[in-house]
Amino acid sequence: MNNSELAKALNLTPVINVSGTMTYLGASIVVPQAIEAMTKILPEFVKMEELQRFASRTIARLTGSEAGFITASCASGISLAIAGCMTKDNLLAVEALPETAAPYDVVIQAGHNVSYGAAVDQAVRLTGARCVQAGQATQCQPYHLEQSINENTVAALYVVSHHVVEYGQLPLSLFCEIAHARGVPVIVDAASEYDLRRFLADGADIVLYSGHKFLGGPTSGIVAGKKELVRYAWLQNRGIGRGMKVGKESVYGAIAALEAWETRDHQRVRDNETRILDLWVAGLANIPGVQAAREADPTDNPLERCKITLDPTLTRTTAWDLAQTLAAGKPSIIVRDHLAEKGYFYLDPCNLHPGQEEVVLARLREALAAAREAPTAKKTAFAEILKQRQQAILRWPD
Ligand SMILES: *Cc1c(COP(=O)(O)O)cnc(C)c1O
Repeated sequence: MNNSELAKALNLTPVINVSGTMTYLGASIVVPQAIEAMTKILPEFVKMEELQRFASRTIARLTGSEAGFITASCASGISLAIAGCMTKDNLLAVEALPETAAPYDVVIQAGHNVSYGAAVDQAVRLTGARCVQAGQATQCQPYHLEQSINENTVAALYVVSHHVVEYGQLPLSLFCEIAHARGVPVIVDAASEYDLRRFLADGADIVLYSGHKFLGGPTSGIVAGKKELVRYAWLQNRGIGRGMKVGKESVYGAIAALEAWETRDHQRVRDNETRILDLWVAGLANIPGVQAAREADPTDNPLERCKITLDPTLTRTTAWDLAQTLAAGKPSIIVRDHLAEKGYFYLDPCNLHPGQEEVVLARLREALAAAREAPTAKKTAFAEILKQRQQAILRWPD
Protein backbone atom coordinates (compact mmCIF):
# COMPACT_ATOMS: atom_id res chain seq x y z
CA MET A 1 0.00 0.00 0.00
CA ASN A 2 1.46 3.38 -0.87
CA ASN A 3 1.04 6.59 1.07
CA SER A 4 -2.06 7.82 -0.73
CA GLU A 5 -3.83 4.42 -0.60
CA LEU A 6 -3.11 4.20 3.11
CA ALA A 7 -4.25 7.78 3.60
CA LYS A 8 -7.51 7.02 1.82
CA ALA A 9 -8.18 3.81 3.76
CA LEU A 10 -7.68 5.51 7.13
CA ASN A 11 -8.95 8.92 6.12
CA LEU A 12 -5.54 10.50 6.80
CA THR A 13 -3.78 13.37 5.05
CA PRO A 14 -1.15 12.08 2.60
CA VAL A 15 2.25 13.48 3.61
CA ILE A 16 5.48 14.25 1.79
CA ASN A 17 8.19 14.62 4.40
CA VAL A 18 10.99 17.07 3.60
CA SER A 19 11.53 17.95 7.26
CA GLY A 20 13.86 15.12 8.30
CA THR A 21 13.17 12.37 10.80
CA MET A 22 10.25 13.54 12.89
CA THR A 23 8.48 11.54 15.58
CA TYR A 24 5.22 13.35 14.84
CA LEU A 25 5.32 12.16 11.21
CA GLY A 26 6.19 8.55 12.04
CA ALA A 27 9.99 8.94 12.06
CA SER A 28 11.57 7.44 8.92
CA ILE A 29 10.99 5.09 6.00
CA VAL A 30 11.76 1.70 7.52
CA VAL A 31 14.29 -0.25 5.44
CA PRO A 32 13.06 -3.49 3.78
CA GLN A 33 15.50 -5.61 5.81
CA ALA A 34 13.90 -4.42 9.06
CA ILE A 35 10.37 -4.95 7.75
CA GLU A 36 11.28 -8.49 6.73
CA ALA A 37 12.89 -9.23 10.09
CA MET A 38 9.86 -7.96 11.99
CA THR A 39 7.47 -9.97 9.86
CA LYS A 40 9.52 -13.10 10.45
CA ILE A 41 9.72 -12.86 14.20
CA LEU A 42 6.21 -11.64 15.02
CA PRO A 43 4.52 -15.08 15.02
CA GLU A 44 7.36 -16.75 16.99
CA PHE A 45 8.31 -17.08 20.65
CA VAL A 46 11.84 -16.19 21.59
CA LYS A 47 13.78 -15.93 24.82
CA MET A 48 14.04 -12.14 24.94
CA GLU A 49 17.27 -12.33 26.93
CA GLU A 50 18.85 -14.38 24.15
CA LEU A 51 17.55 -12.06 21.45
CA GLN A 52 18.97 -9.09 23.34
CA ARG A 53 22.30 -10.95 23.73
CA PHE A 54 22.33 -11.27 19.96
CA ALA A 55 21.55 -7.53 19.77
CA SER A 56 24.43 -6.89 22.17
CA ARG A 57 26.91 -8.61 19.87
CA THR A 58 25.66 -6.73 16.79
CA ILE A 59 25.75 -3.41 18.63
CA ALA A 60 29.26 -4.16 19.91
CA ARG A 61 30.48 -4.98 16.41
CA LEU A 62 29.05 -1.80 14.88
CA THR A 63 29.80 0.69 17.63
CA GLY A 64 32.99 -0.69 19.12
CA SER A 65 31.23 -0.99 22.50
CA GLU A 66 31.64 -3.86 24.98
CA ALA A 67 27.88 -4.51 25.08
CA GLY A 68 24.49 -3.07 24.26
CA PHE A 69 20.76 -3.64 24.04
CA ILE A 70 17.68 -2.34 22.30
CA THR A 71 15.11 -0.27 24.16
CA ALA A 72 11.96 1.61 23.19
CA SER A 73 13.60 4.88 22.11
CA CYS A 74 16.63 7.04 22.61
CA ALA A 75 14.70 8.97 25.25
CA SER A 76 14.12 5.77 27.23
CA GLY A 77 17.80 4.95 26.74
CA ILE A 78 18.69 8.17 28.56
CA SER A 79 16.45 7.28 31.52
CA LEU A 80 17.70 3.67 31.69
CA ALA A 81 21.38 4.62 31.44
CA ILE A 82 21.06 7.25 34.18
CA ALA A 83 18.99 4.91 36.38
CA GLY A 84 21.71 2.28 35.96
CA CYS A 85 24.34 4.71 37.21
CA MET A 86 22.15 5.27 40.27
CA THR A 87 21.24 1.70 41.24
CA LYS A 88 24.17 -0.28 39.85
CA ASP A 89 23.18 -3.94 40.40
CA ASN A 90 21.08 -3.38 43.52
CA LEU A 91 17.78 -4.99 42.43
CA LEU A 92 15.86 -3.53 45.36
CA ALA A 93 17.03 -0.05 44.38
CA VAL A 94 15.91 -0.81 40.80
CA GLU A 95 12.39 -1.50 42.10
CA ALA A 96 12.39 1.56 44.35
CA LEU A 97 13.03 4.16 41.64
CA PRO A 98 12.13 6.97 41.25
CA GLU A 99 12.44 6.95 45.03
CA THR A 100 16.00 6.98 46.28
CA ALA A 101 17.58 6.84 49.71
CA ALA A 102 20.00 9.66 48.89
CA PRO A 103 19.81 12.56 46.42
CA TYR A 104 21.38 11.92 43.02
CA ASP A 105 22.61 14.56 40.58
CA VAL A 106 23.24 14.37 36.87
CA VAL A 107 25.35 17.18 35.46
CA ILE A 108 24.63 18.62 32.02
CA GLN A 109 25.95 21.72 30.24
CA ALA A 110 23.21 24.38 30.33
CA GLY A 111 23.41 24.70 26.53
CA HIS A 112 22.66 20.98 26.20
CA ASN A 113 19.48 21.04 28.28
CA VAL A 114 17.22 21.27 25.26
CA SER A 115 14.00 19.82 23.91
CA TYR A 116 13.93 17.16 21.22
CA GLY A 117 10.14 17.16 21.35
CA ALA A 118 10.33 16.54 25.10
CA ALA A 119 12.78 17.99 27.61
CA VAL A 120 16.14 16.23 28.03
CA ASP A 121 16.09 16.90 31.76
CA GLN A 122 12.72 15.17 32.13
CA ALA A 123 14.27 11.94 30.85
CA VAL A 124 16.68 12.35 33.78
CA ARG A 125 14.08 13.36 36.37
CA LEU A 126 11.98 10.28 35.58
CA THR A 127 14.65 8.26 37.36
CA GLY A 128 14.42 10.33 40.54
CA ALA A 129 17.72 12.09 39.88
CA ARG A 130 18.04 15.84 39.49
CA CYS A 131 19.60 17.66 36.56
CA VAL A 132 22.31 20.12 37.58
CA GLN A 133 23.24 22.65 34.89
CA ALA A 134 26.88 23.54 34.39
CA GLY A 135 27.58 27.04 33.08
CA GLN A 136 25.09 29.18 31.21
CA ALA A 137 23.25 28.49 27.95
CA THR A 138 26.00 30.11 25.90
CA GLN A 139 29.11 29.06 27.79
CA CYS A 140 30.43 26.15 29.76
CA GLN A 141 34.06 26.49 30.77
CA PRO A 142 36.05 23.63 32.30
CA TYR A 143 35.60 25.13 35.80
CA HIS A 144 31.82 25.16 35.40
CA LEU A 145 31.78 21.42 34.86
CA GLU A 146 34.49 20.70 37.46
CA GLN A 147 32.62 22.58 40.17
CA SER A 148 29.19 21.19 39.28
CA ILE A 149 30.39 17.71 40.19
CA ASN A 150 30.00 16.70 43.84
CA GLU A 151 29.55 13.54 45.90
CA ASN A 152 25.92 13.19 44.70
CA THR A 153 26.84 13.23 41.01
CA VAL A 154 26.14 9.85 39.40
CA ALA A 155 26.55 10.73 35.73
CA ALA A 156 27.37 13.49 33.29
CA LEU A 157 25.06 13.80 30.29
CA TYR A 158 26.25 15.12 26.91
CA VAL A 159 23.91 15.87 24.00
CA VAL A 160 25.00 15.85 20.36
CA SER A 161 22.33 17.56 18.28
CA HIS A 162 21.37 20.52 16.12
CA HIS A 163 19.12 21.44 19.05
CA VAL A 164 22.00 22.34 21.41
CA VAL A 165 23.63 25.77 21.59
CA GLU A 166 26.16 25.60 18.82
CA TYR A 167 29.02 27.49 20.47
CA GLY A 168 30.57 27.88 23.91
CA GLN A 169 30.17 24.19 24.84
CA LEU A 170 32.90 21.78 25.92
CA PRO A 171 34.07 19.27 23.33
CA LEU A 172 33.20 15.69 24.30
CA SER A 173 36.80 14.61 24.89
CA LEU A 174 37.40 17.40 27.44
CA PHE A 175 33.98 16.79 29.02
CA CYS A 176 34.97 13.12 29.50
CA GLU A 177 38.40 14.01 30.83
CA ILE A 178 36.90 16.25 33.55
CA ALA A 179 34.11 13.79 34.49
CA HIS A 180 36.36 10.73 34.50
CA ALA A 181 38.97 12.45 36.68
CA ARG A 182 36.18 12.65 39.28
CA GLY A 183 34.97 9.08 38.76
CA VAL A 184 31.78 10.13 36.95
CA PRO A 185 30.60 8.17 33.88
CA VAL A 186 29.61 10.05 30.73
CA ILE A 187 26.33 9.29 28.93
CA VAL A 188 26.00 10.66 25.38
CA ASP A 189 22.67 11.28 23.66
CA ALA A 190 23.60 10.88 19.98
CA ALA A 191 20.05 10.12 18.82
CA SER A 192 20.40 11.43 15.27
CA GLU A 193 24.12 11.03 14.65
CA TYR A 194 25.27 8.83 11.78
CA ASP A 195 28.63 8.02 13.35
CA LEU A 196 28.22 4.88 15.45
CA ARG A 197 31.78 4.81 16.80
CA ARG A 198 33.03 8.33 17.36
CA PHE A 199 31.50 9.14 20.74
CA LEU A 200 32.65 5.94 22.45
CA ALA A 201 36.06 6.47 20.85
CA ASP A 202 36.08 10.01 22.34
CA GLY A 203 35.58 8.58 25.83
CA ALA A 204 31.82 8.16 26.37
CA ASP A 205 30.87 5.31 28.72
CA ILE A 206 27.41 4.86 27.23
CA VAL A 207 26.08 6.25 23.96
CA LEU A 208 22.42 6.27 22.93
CA TYR A 209 21.01 6.30 19.40
CA SER A 210 17.52 6.24 17.94
CA GLY A 211 16.74 3.14 15.92
CA HIS A 212 14.08 4.93 13.86
CA LYS A 213 16.03 7.93 12.62
CA PHE A 214 18.90 7.65 10.11
CA LEU A 215 19.02 3.85 10.59
CA GLY A 216 15.51 3.38 9.22
CA GLY A 217 14.60 0.85 11.88
CA PRO A 218 11.35 0.46 13.83
CA THR A 219 10.70 2.80 16.76
CA SER A 220 13.50 1.82 19.12
CA GLY A 221 16.61 2.99 20.91
CA ILE A 222 20.14 1.63 21.02
CA VAL A 223 22.14 1.53 24.24
CA ALA A 224 25.86 0.87 23.70
CA GLY A 225 28.85 1.12 26.00
CA LYS A 226 30.87 -0.38 28.83
CA LYS A 227 29.59 -3.81 29.78
CA GLU A 228 29.02 -3.11 33.46
CA LEU A 229 27.11 0.13 32.89
CA VAL A 230 25.09 -1.43 30.06
CA ARG A 231 24.15 -4.27 32.44
CA TYR A 232 23.05 -1.77 35.11
CA ALA A 233 20.91 0.00 32.49
CA TRP A 234 19.49 -3.36 31.31
CA LEU A 235 18.42 -4.25 34.87
CA GLN A 236 16.05 -1.26 34.80
CA ASN A 237 13.72 -3.34 32.63
CA ARG A 238 12.64 -4.82 35.99
CA GLY A 239 11.81 -1.29 37.16
CA ILE A 240 11.12 2.03 35.47
CA GLY A 241 12.06 0.44 32.14
CA ARG A 242 8.93 -1.69 32.14
CA GLY A 243 6.86 1.16 30.78
CA MET A 244 9.46 1.54 28.04
CA LYS A 245 9.17 -2.09 27.01
CA VAL A 246 10.36 -3.06 23.56
CA GLY A 247 8.88 -6.02 21.70
CA LYS A 248 10.68 -8.84 19.90
CA GLU A 249 9.82 -7.26 16.54
CA SER A 250 11.48 -3.98 17.49
CA VAL A 251 14.59 -5.71 18.81
CA TYR A 252 15.01 -7.83 15.70
CA GLY A 253 13.95 -4.98 13.40
CA ALA A 254 16.54 -2.66 14.95
CA ILE A 255 19.26 -5.29 14.59
CA ALA A 256 18.32 -5.76 10.93
CA ALA A 257 18.43 -1.98 10.42
CA LEU A 258 21.90 -1.86 12.02
CA GLU A 259 23.12 -4.63 9.75
CA ALA A 260 21.58 -2.92 6.72
CA TRP A 261 23.36 0.28 7.71
CA GLU A 262 26.65 -1.62 7.70
CA THR A 263 26.16 -2.78 4.11
CA ARG A 264 24.24 0.22 2.72
CA ASP A 265 25.75 1.89 -0.32
CA HIS A 266 26.16 5.23 1.47
CA GLN A 267 27.73 6.88 -1.57
CA ARG A 268 24.77 6.01 -3.76
CA VAL A 269 22.34 7.40 -1.21
CA ARG A 270 24.42 10.58 -0.95
CA ASP A 271 24.63 10.97 -4.74
CA ASN A 272 20.86 10.68 -5.03
CA GLU A 273 20.35 13.27 -2.29
CA THR A 274 22.79 15.62 -4.06
CA ARG A 275 20.89 15.18 -7.31
CA ILE A 276 17.65 16.13 -5.53
CA LEU A 277 19.25 19.17 -3.88
CA ASP A 278 20.63 20.37 -7.21
CA LEU A 279 17.20 19.96 -8.78
CA TRP A 280 15.63 22.12 -6.06
CA VAL A 281 18.34 24.79 -6.18
CA ALA A 282 18.11 25.04 -9.99
CA GLY A 283 14.30 25.00 -9.93
CA LEU A 284 14.11 27.88 -7.45
CA ALA A 285 16.75 30.06 -9.10
CA ASN A 286 15.52 33.38 -10.54
CA ILE A 287 12.34 33.54 -8.46
CA PRO A 288 12.13 37.09 -7.06
CA GLY A 289 13.05 37.21 -3.35
CA VAL A 290 13.96 33.53 -3.08
CA GLN A 291 17.43 32.24 -2.32
CA ALA A 292 18.02 28.49 -2.45
CA ALA A 293 21.35 26.91 -1.60
CA ARG A 294 22.79 23.64 -0.31
CA GLU A 295 23.87 23.70 3.32
CA ALA A 296 25.86 21.15 5.33
CA ASP A 297 24.38 19.46 8.41
CA PRO A 298 25.21 21.42 11.60
CA THR A 299 26.47 18.36 13.51
CA ASP A 300 28.65 17.09 10.66
CA ASN A 301 26.46 14.20 9.58
CA PRO A 302 27.33 13.43 5.95
CA LEU A 303 24.26 15.11 4.49
CA GLU A 304 23.14 18.45 3.12
CA ARG A 305 19.80 20.22 3.00
CA CYS A 306 18.36 22.89 0.73
CA LYS A 307 18.08 26.19 2.61
CA ILE A 308 15.35 28.46 1.28
CA THR A 309 15.50 32.07 2.39
CA LEU A 310 12.68 34.47 1.59
CA ASP A 311 12.68 38.23 1.25
CA PRO A 312 9.01 38.84 2.14
CA THR A 313 8.92 42.28 0.48
CA LEU A 314 9.42 40.45 -2.85
CA THR A 315 7.83 37.06 -2.18
CA ARG A 316 4.83 38.70 -0.41
CA THR A 317 4.79 35.80 2.04
CA THR A 318 6.95 34.93 5.03
CA ALA A 319 8.90 31.71 5.48
CA TRP A 320 6.46 30.51 8.16
CA ASP A 321 3.39 31.38 6.12
CA LEU A 322 4.80 29.54 3.12
CA ALA A 323 5.60 26.52 5.30
CA GLN A 324 2.02 26.56 6.55
CA THR A 325 0.59 26.86 3.03
CA LEU A 326 2.61 23.83 1.90
CA ALA A 327 1.53 21.84 4.95
CA ALA A 328 -2.13 22.73 4.39
CA GLY A 329 -2.12 21.43 0.78
CA LYS A 330 -2.76 17.91 -0.45
CA PRO A 331 -0.52 16.03 -0.18
CA SER A 332 0.68 17.89 2.89
CA ILE A 333 4.29 18.95 2.35
CA ILE A 334 6.12 19.28 5.64
CA VAL A 335 9.30 21.36 5.44
CA ARG A 336 11.99 21.69 8.11
CA ASP A 337 10.81 24.93 9.67
CA HIS A 338 12.24 25.10 13.19
CA LEU A 339 14.19 28.23 12.15
CA ALA A 340 11.38 29.82 10.08
CA GLU A 341 11.21 32.81 12.43
CA LYS A 342 14.63 33.77 11.05
CA GLY A 343 13.20 33.95 7.53
CA TYR A 344 14.20 30.59 6.15
CA PHE A 345 13.38 26.90 6.14
CA TYR A 346 15.02 23.77 4.81
CA LEU A 347 14.09 20.91 2.54
CA ASP A 348 15.60 17.64 3.75
CA PRO A 349 16.00 15.02 1.00
CA CYS A 350 16.57 12.01 3.31
CA ASN A 351 13.01 10.68 3.64
CA LEU A 352 11.61 10.92 0.11
CA HIS A 353 10.11 8.24 -2.07
CA PRO A 354 11.21 8.33 -5.72
CA GLY A 355 9.61 11.19 -7.63
CA GLN A 356 8.39 13.14 -4.60
CA GLU A 357 11.21 15.68 -5.09
CA GLU A 358 9.45 16.83 -8.29
CA VAL A 359 6.13 17.25 -6.47
CA VAL A 360 7.84 19.31 -3.76
CA LEU A 361 9.45 21.62 -6.31
CA ALA A 362 6.27 22.07 -8.35
CA ARG A 363 4.20 22.84 -5.23
CA LEU A 364 6.79 25.31 -3.95
CA ARG A 365 6.91 27.15 -7.27
CA GLU A 366 3.11 27.18 -7.42
CA ALA A 367 2.76 28.51 -3.86
CA LEU A 368 5.38 31.22 -4.50
CA ALA A 369 3.65 32.28 -7.72
CA ALA A 370 0.26 32.38 -5.97
CA ALA A 371 1.71 34.52 -3.16
CA ARG A 372 3.24 36.98 -5.65
CA GLU A 373 -0.04 37.36 -7.49
CA ALA A 374 -2.40 37.41 -4.51
CA PRO A 375 -4.26 40.70 -3.96
CA THR A 376 -2.96 40.91 -0.37
CA ALA A 377 0.42 39.85 0.99
CA LYS A 378 0.43 36.97 3.53
CA LYS A 379 2.59 38.03 6.43
CA THR A 380 1.18 36.68 9.68
CA ALA A 381 2.92 37.98 12.80
CA PHE A 382 5.13 35.19 14.14
CA ALA A 383 3.63 35.63 17.63
CA GLU A 384 0.25 34.75 16.12
CA ILE A 385 1.71 31.53 14.68
CA LEU A 386 2.97 30.56 18.12
CA LYS A 387 -0.48 31.06 19.63
CA GLN A 388 -2.13 29.03 16.86
CA ARG A 389 0.33 26.16 17.32
CA GLN A 390 -0.34 26.02 21.04
CA GLN A 391 -4.10 26.01 20.49
CA ALA A 392 -3.72 23.21 17.95
CA ILE A 393 -1.74 21.09 20.46
CA LEU A 394 -4.43 21.45 23.09
CA ARG A 395 -7.29 20.69 20.69
CA TRP A 396 -6.54 17.01 20.14
CA PRO A 397 -8.48 14.72 19.57
CA ASP A 398 -10.70 17.28 17.82
C1 LIG B 1 15.23 12.49 18.47
C2 LIG B 1 16.09 12.82 19.62
C3 LIG B 1 15.88 12.20 20.85
C4 LIG B 1 14.72 11.29 21.09
O1 LIG B 1 14.89 10.12 20.38
P1 LIG B 1 13.72 9.02 20.44
O2 LIG B 1 14.42 7.81 19.96
O3 LIG B 1 12.68 9.49 19.49
O4 LIG B 1 13.28 8.94 21.83
C5 LIG B 1 16.73 12.45 21.88
N1 LIG B 1 17.75 13.30 21.72
C6 LIG B 1 17.98 13.94 20.56
C7 LIG B 1 19.15 14.84 20.46
C8 LIG B 1 17.15 13.72 19.46
O5 LIG B 1 17.38 14.33 18.31
